[in-house]
Amino acid sequence: MTTHFGVYIHIPFCKQKCFYCDFPSFAGREEHIDEYLTSLHHEMELGATSFGERGKLAPHTIYIGGGTPSHLNLSQMKMLFESIHANMQVKNVAEFTMEANPCTIDEEKLHLMKANGVSRISIGVQSFDDGCLQRIGRLHKSSMAIEKVRLAQKAGFANLSIDLMYGLPGQTLDMLKESLDKAMELGVQHISIYGLQLEEGTVLAKQQEMGRLELPDDEAVEKMYDYLVEYLPAHGFSRYEISNYAMDGYYSRHNTLYWQDVPYLGFGSGAHSYWRGKRYENPVDIGEYIKATAEGKFLYIVEENVSEKAHMEEFCFLGLRMTKGINREKFRVKFNKDIHEIFGDAIKEMIDRGFLQENDGALSLTPIGMKYGNIVFGAFIIE
Ligand code: SF4
Repeated sequence: MTTHFGVYIHIPFCKQKCFYCDFPSFAGREEHIDEYLTSLHHEMELGATSFGERGKLAPHTIYIGGGTPSHLNLSQMKMLFESIHANMQVKNVAEFTMEANPCTIDEEKLHLMKANGVSRISIGVQSFDDGCLQRIGRLHKSSMAIEKVRLAQKAGFANLSIDLMYGLPGQTLDMLKESLDKAMELGVQHISIYGLQLEEGTVLAKQQEMGRLELPDDEAVEKMYDYLVEYLPAHGFSRYEISNYAMDGYYSRHNTLYWQDVPYLGFGSGAHSYWRGKRYENPVDIGEYIKATAEGKFLYIVEENVSEKAHMEEFCFLGLRMTKGINREKFRVKFNKDIHEIFGDAIKEMIDRGFLQENDGALSLTPIGMKYGNIVFGAFIIE
């Protein structure tokens, strides 16, 4: 029986679709929320047995993401927690995270979260500049984000993460600096910070096609990156993954499972699972998901065995995302092969180019390799 695994629960509802977002989330579908939560309950109920476990699931971590989990109203949130407690042992989880948006979180919801074992909140702030927020379609203002972070602290949450972004439309280095300063003032414990990517089908991508998007140029974005990678460690935040920084002891236990090739079960529309060498993916469409669970079956649109080749590649891509990198011995134990036997040429080339280093049995990205991670990941594809 597998004992060490994470659980992800997807809530695909949002108040409004952000202009950069291509996640499996939907605005204006509130009338489906109750039905969706019933489906989630059924899926979790069947979850243990369908994956060969007995009794209540005993995950190491739980993560409720989205979408916007805080978009659920109080009674819907209660319903969700009841399902989780009915199907999982929550008391001993190492970390129970819930994502929240500044405009949908309030005191009552925070107390409910706390009473139900949520130990960590991840708040989608993105920027403390109102102009930037408006240009990326966020509904909150900077003042509201500040107020809600403080409210969460007042409610007793001592493990808070915020998401920030750089390279946003109209964003300058000074604006990013102000956002980082504000994050420091607020005293959060964890920061995830991502460069804007223009994803196909998003509002920003369309604005770009129409020539109506003003983005900072590559040089300006690089300066933002160079600034933040110096700034955060200088303020007590260790970089433990390409886009993630934490105060001592506050790294994300749940996300670390993904990067360390640990199994996880995903519940909800569009959720992925990785279990006993197989990958599963639920339908993204909410209606299709509800229909399948109502019929008492799982409708995985993907159910595949992970080949050894794909497994080795992923082990490397994901492991290299972490600052501590890939442990050579762990690779050998997992695949019964030395990593140099499989990726020797790629490793040599990346070390020669200054992107990779090997110390004390671990292969990890150098600071410059962190900046150009995709080049390194591309080298770890087995022909
Ligand atoms: S709130 Fe999050 S999931 Fe929802 S649209 Fe915005 S970025 Fe996407």
